[in-house]
Amino acid sequence: MLLVKTKEELQQKLGSFREFGTVGFVPTMGALHSGHLSLVEKAINENQVVVVSIFVNPTQFNDSKDLERYPRTLESDLKLLKSTGCQFVFAPGVNEIYPKPDRRIFNFGTLDSVMEGKHRSGHFNGVAQVVSRLFEIVKPDKAYFGLKDFQQLAIIKNLVVQLKLPVEIVSCPIIREESGLAMSSRNELLTTEERENAALISRTLFLAKNFVAEKSVEQLVHWVLKTINKNSFLTVEYFEVVDDTRLKPIKSWSEKNTKIGCIAVFCGKIRLIDNIILN
Ligand code: AMP
Repeated sequence: MLLVKTKEELQQKLGSFREFGTVGFVPTMGALHSGHLSLVEKAINENQVVVVSIFVNPTQFNDSKDLERYPRTLESDLKLLKSTGCQFVFAPGVNEIYPKPDRRIFNFGTLDSVMEGKHRSGHFNGVAQVVSRLFEIVKPDKAYFGLKDFQQLAIIKNLVVQLKLPVEIVSCPIIREESGLAMSSRNELLTTEERENAALISRTLFLAKNFVAEKSVEQLVHWVLKTINKNSFLTVEYFEVVDDTRLKPIKSWSEKNTKIGCIAVFCGKIRLIDNIILN
């Protein structure tokens, strides 16, 4: 496994590998856990060469405190990645990705105006900036993203269409801790007590799925908010039921689309997200 810090070195070293087959790419912000590793393993199974990037992208943070406290654990990340058998780790500095400020403004229409887009203004524009820069550098055949960040996946699929990029986007299932809590680098910032209480988020989502037959969409949303907010460690920022492609709010279970319940919850200062397919 080779650790590479500059785009020139990556492109040069990757060049000789390309002729052997497809390049799989897993973009991450590091502080790796089994959720990330599941993407890397899938990429290894489906490609001859795999590049994992580790880059905490400043342009997608709309809260400077969140950026400051984001965990950075390169040493242990490299150990974990070595055990997967991936060939390249690309860990660039900020100047390598943004030699000059990226002023591009993307338009994702309604995909960006709900949920994460609504509550984290500019977040997905920053995600689009970094992902398009990374795609330009790595030029992958396939790129792997987790369904944990459901709205991000929808945005990236749209980005690839808008920019006509020749890359296949592969979605990967949510990996959870034993308690059901969706794995996240941010879980490391929770105290033991907070982490135990945060498991109520996924427990409530799993139960919500069983209630679809007996509650209206509105009643279900109300029940989820009430159940989680009753816990003194947790405050729900939003819980929305949307369709899985256009992310339009669902009003009735009789609508034909696949329906997905997406949630963001503050556990103390730490913001956690999760989602569940409801039908
Ligand atoms: P991040 O480092 O948080 O930017 O995540 C990098 C990639 O890993 C994204 O595509 C995430 O959706 C994915 N990911 C993060 N957590 C999980 C998880 N618990 N299960 C599956 N994929 C995940």
